[in-house]
Amino acid sequence: MPTGSALSTTTSPTGPSTDRAAYWICPRGSNIRHATDIRPGALINGSAIKALGGCAITIPMATPNDQQPRSRLVNKRCPDCAEVVEERNLPSRDWDF
Ligand SMILES: [Zn+2]
Repeated sequence: MPTGSALSTTTSPTGPSTDRAAYWICPRGSNIRHATDIRPGALINGSAIKALGGCAITIPMATPNDQQPRSRLVNKRCPDCAEVVEERNLPSRDWDF
């Protein structure tokens, strides 16, 4: 368990959190996916967030509909994020923008 996890106090919103999942996203220019439990619909393209493993990542720009996202080919997962996902027992979903 890495120190510094005190920063990531999860403020759970009131009400039942249904669809909890870890979304594995590939930041721009990266060859590895990191996990976030923020719904991709709530993520802003180009913004910086902290992944579940504590990694700072940048949300990639959306891929035009007629193109295949480059991240589609990325299947490596960050071990730090994987550890947290396993700890929280979140179902994993790969997500491409
Ligand atoms: Zn990570």
